[in-house]
Amino acid sequence: MQTLHLKVDPDNPNHKIIEIAAALIREGETVAFPTETVYGVGANGLDEKAVKRVFEAKRRPLDNPLLMHVMSWEQASSLVTGIREEVLLLVDRFWPGPLTLVAPANDRVPRVVTAGLSTVGLRMPDHRVALDLIKAAGVPVAATSANLSGRPSPTSAQHVIRDLNGRIAGILSAGTTGWGIESTILDVTRTPFTILRPGAVSRERLEEVLPGMIKAARPWTEVGGRLRAAHYRPDARVIPVKPGDKLAELAQAEAAKGKRVGVVVATQQELPTLADFVVVINGGPAEYGRRLYEIFREADSRKIEYLFMEIPEEKGLGVAVADRIYEAARR
Ligand code: AMP
Ligand code: MG
Repeated sequence: MQTLHLKVDPDNPNHKIIEIAAALIREGETVAFPTETVYGVGANGLDEKAVKRVFEAKRRPLDNPLLMHVMSWEQASSLVTGIREEVLLLVDRFWPGPLTLVAPANDRVPRVVTAGLSTVGLRMPDHRVALDLIKAAGVPVAATSANLSGRPSPTSAQHVIRDLNGRIAGILSAGTTGWGIESTILDVTRTPFTILRPGAVSRERLEEVLPGMIKAARPWTEVGGRLRAAHYRPDARVIPVKPGDKLAELAQAEAAKGKRVGVVVATQQELPTLADFVVVINGGPAEYGRRLYEIFREADSRKIEYLFMEIPEEKGLGVAVADRIYEAARR
């Protein structure tokens, strides 16, 4: 398949180019597009055959659901039933934005989107290109990150091209994404609302809107069960290191044995002298989140064998960053 490359200005996308991508969606084809978190790849969410193409392009197992990307709450509410009143407060505050709401699906939602679950994840991305595309297509877009299954999420059009060129019909490219880490997934089917996956909207921010009504499901990997199989893992063995532990010493010991070692430090002052790849995060968890997947890809291309990563303090956005690091370290 020839992938159509469509370049647009992220802040003011040319509507003729958006229309080309939207026509592909309407025809049942797959298109990659930027969001405020990572690049997504999607298809007409009401067309079962089209949705299957997303799974095929990514080699994604059919038991891992996609998210319905919408351009308004009105469009979202046409896909679900039995929404609790408090949900509207969250929508008001966080949409468009990186908060996915898991709600009871109605029968307009093809089961392939939800992998057979009775609930569907809804999200309104805070990105002009994504919103314009969904609007122009006139249908909700079932989408997920635009990487091959098991690879890190793409934070630039280059990453998408590396993974999916020739496997999808089109790509809207518009530079790098903002957050770099995926949306927060919140189950609003029962109270307290439960965070199924920590993400760009922190628990603290959700609680500002609904005090005492947000539960963090821990450990995340157990809640998701099969939903969180084999994600975000570089070739290197990832070794999470607590801020107080001696990262440099641990890394140096492996390097001394002739291993190719990478280190990512946030607060630690000491660096191993023998490391092949060194990243220093100065800007806190926001910078860590933005750079995380690029670091994984870079570690792969440098053939790093052991990647020692300092865990940020687990509050605010740090919770999501720590989650992705632990996830990458799981074998
Ligand atoms: P993303 O990785 O941002 O593309 O989001 C897809 C992920 O959302 C899936 O891998 C699941 O972990 C999660 N997800 C999607 N739909 C549901 C659902 N109905 N219930 C629980 N988790 C879901
Ligand atoms: Mg993904």
